[in-house]
Amino acid sequence: MKRSITGLLLGVMLLPLLALANSPPSTHEFMLDNGLKLIVIEDHKASLVHSHLWYRIGSNQEGPGQTGLSHALEHMLFNGSSKLCPSESDQILQSLGGSQNATTLNDATLYFHTVPPHALGVSFEVLADQMSTALLSASQWKGEREVVKNERSESSEHHPIKRALEIPRRLALPASASGNPVIGWRHDLDRLQADDLKHWYHRWYAPNNAVLIVTGDVHPQQAKQLAERYFGPIARLPLPYSPAPIELTAPGERTIRQYLPQQIPMLYMAFNVPSLRTQVDPLTAQALELIAEMLAGANSSLLKAQLIRHEGLASAVTAHYQAVSLGDELFNISALPELEKAGSMETVRARILAIIESLKTAAPSLEDLERARIQITARRVFDQDALENRALTVGFLEMAGLSWRSEQTRLDALKSITPQDIQRTAQTFLVADRLTTSYALPEETPHD
Ligand SMILES: [Zn+2]
Repeated sequence: MKRSITGLLLGVMLLPLLALANSPPSTHEFMLDNGLKLIVIEDHKASLVHSHLWYRIGSNQEGPGQTGLSHALEHMLFNGSSKLCPSESDQILQSLGGSQNATTLNDATLYFHTVPPHALGVSFEVLADQMSTALLSASQWKGEREVVKNERSESSEHHPIKRALEIPRRLALPASASGNPVIGWRHDLDRLQADDLKHWYHRWYAPNNAVLIVTGDVHPQQAKQLAERYFGPIARLPLPYSPAPIELTAPGERTIRQYLPQQIPMLYMAFNVPSLRTQVDPLTAQALELIAEMLAGANSSLLKAQLIRHEGLASAVTAHYQAVSLGDELFNISALPELEKAGSMETVRARILAIIESLKTAAPSLEDLERARIQITARRVFDQDALENRALTVGFLEMAGLSWRSEQTRLDALKSITPQDIQRTAQTFLVADRLTTSYALPEETPHD
């Protein structure tokens, strides 16, 4: 009886959240003659506008020996163009009460501005100038290369968690460029030349390879007119063929052991899985998202409750799966083992695999599934409350080759997953043939 009441309550709690999630924001899409896609999300709650310019180019398209090229180019876009001296865009936007930033990802490079509504034209003028006339001088690259290498030191080589994940990710994704670090390998950065950056820029920085997303206190027609004014004169380019990063489905069980200076003992496990874009069964991605939540979402989740609370074998456990992606993905689990209690990393790994096995031998209870569903839905609804996050969600979907309209399909799929779908998905994808295990240990640990 208690169980059914809880189930009912969970269902009642879920309804308003799903209703909120179902109310579509006022979103408008335009296509300029030169192929630039403009998406405007109108929301007059605050007197601010976010303009995000996404390019469909990231580390996944980089060939051997050229890792880090997209990220290096992102840096160089701030180092001068026909209307802007190096770093001048920062000063211009700040003087207008705005700000800017940029980031490079596996599938995309993103430039984002936040400005007061009256400065949207300036934002577009800056972004359009960077799109079409970046200088990319050899002398500027000489200095910027050191900035990028320093960023690599701080964000990867001296970061106790990220550095432990770099090589295992390469091992986990053997057939595509997705396994390379976005920032690039250090030896590639050393040999990257300004001409390589120019070639990359002229190949990919074109209006027909970009999506401009504008959110906030703006009227769609006004955004369209400004976009036509500033981006309209830029010519479209013939774009090279760019295949999505597809992986081997079951490359075999892989294990790596790294002994690193001052490393925190860390266990990382990654299963080769499809994304929302590459899945064959339309429910796989949502089922994997729910499994990640059931394993290590809330403190009551399976791995957190067992490993941390009941058995004391780990001080932290996470499970993460990125469903929205252009190519195949990884289902990631990481843990910080309590070695005094566990004795070895292998013990913790065995316990994690046993808990995953329990999802395969019996379907989870509907109650556990509903709890995970509510948590994911609540997070999405609250995330979308922030205008900037709404723009980012649209951008991620577009870069994965999925329309922003597919968010609704995604929510519908999430609602329809059954306990048997969870069991079947775990049986299919969370298997040894798809698993990479990484043990990162401090270098003073005895080893063969
Ligand atoms: Zn950077």
